[in-house]
Amino acid sequence: MTVSQADVLRALELVKLPASGQSLAASGRIGDILVDGGKVIFAIGIDATEAAAMEPVRKAAESAVGGLPGVTQVLVGLTADKAGPSAGMQARQQAQRPGPGGAPRPAGVPGVKQIIAVASGKGGVGKSTTAANLAVALSTLGLKVGVLDSDIYGPSMPKIFGIKGKPQIVSGRTLAPMEAYGLKVMSIGFLVDEETPMIWRGPMVISAITQMLREVAWGDLDVLVVDMPPGTGDAQLTMAQQVPLAGAVIVSTPQDLALLDARRGVAMFRKVAVPILGLVENMSYFTCPACGHRSDIFAHGGARHEAERLGIPFLGEIPLAMPIRETSDGGRPIVASDPASAHAKAYVALARQVQAGLGGAVRAAPRIVIE
Ligand code: ADP
Repeated sequence: MTVSQADVLRALELVKLPASGQSLAASGRIGDILVDGGKVIFAIGIDATEAAAMEPVRKAAESAVGGLPGVTQVLVGLTADKAGPSAGMQARQQAQRPGPGGAPRPAGVPGVKQIIAVASGKGGVGKSTTAANLAVALSTLGLKVGVLDSDIYGPSMPKIFGIKGKPQIVSGRTLAPMEAYGLKVMSIGFLVDEETPMIWRGPMVISAITQMLREVAWGDLDVLVVDMPPGTGDAQLTMAQQVPLAGAVIVSTPQDLALLDARRGVAMFRKVAVPILGLVENMSYFTCPACGHRSDIFAHGGARHEAERLGIPFLGEIPLAMPIRETSDGGRPIVASDPASAHAKAYVALARQVQAGLGGAVRAAPRIVIE
């Protein structure tokens, strides 16, 4: 038996808010409800000052929904909007207004025209390196670009961009993003020590990412590039669902295993109706720096075939190259530090494809479709 969004809302009618006695279902505080098999994920909108008072409500919501037949797991987060409860509530009510297919839409981020995700089915395929160089390349095309490092389990943007220091508070809970190479950059890595082990519960992941998205003074941006946590688990699915994404870029290496993972990434974005901008093959081939000989280390070309098979655009090949690794690990992404190099040009070509995929106009936030 599969639970529906209506079943979830009915269960939430029985959960009352402590101050008003109003039912949670009627309060306009419930964000998009994602039902994935027996798993139910959603967030409750709160004012920052209500966090402690609303924790019992969050728990009550989890147990009310957890009691529904067919539900195997419930993940409920508390999220606070920067503009305060009333503006936040309006945004959420707006977000809950059904789209053409009758499904709710996540609210946009003021000033940010388009948000794209860079994702991979597994770690270590060069997702963050690709995201950082893509972001710099988009800015060389004349766009105002930001980078949100949402890889909270292994934030790498502080290192890739060589950024030290902590973000300043602009007002209240709002932080100023850090800046590098003309980009605005935000990462959980700026807020916690590198050595501190972080244990995140599901709801904490949702609120950490939502806060980094909505409580940062991004200013006017044409594109915000979100470096996703690797993989296709709950955190990734929630992100894909909670962030108003205009599209997703999937990074894969050519090995079959990575492609299998990439396929899962494509399926995840399709599930929440986020358009797939395309697949990038990273570490595609190796060109010997001494003799120029090209070796296809990992059966090169797999991603192109896979993209064709999946019916998504193939965005290009990035070689496995020492200068890419050295610059990425050294805080100087190659598109910024050696823009004339062939490697930098490969990223600029990728950026052009992404820009073309996004189209000139600002796209509407994606619809959520539950299969
Ligand atoms: P992920 O975000 O997928 O975990 P990273 O971007 O952190 O991967 O990359 C993992 C390692 O591979 C890093 O040391 C990075 O410098 C290196 N790397 C990524 N892409 C390339 C490439 N095209 N050529 C050489 N090294 C690369």
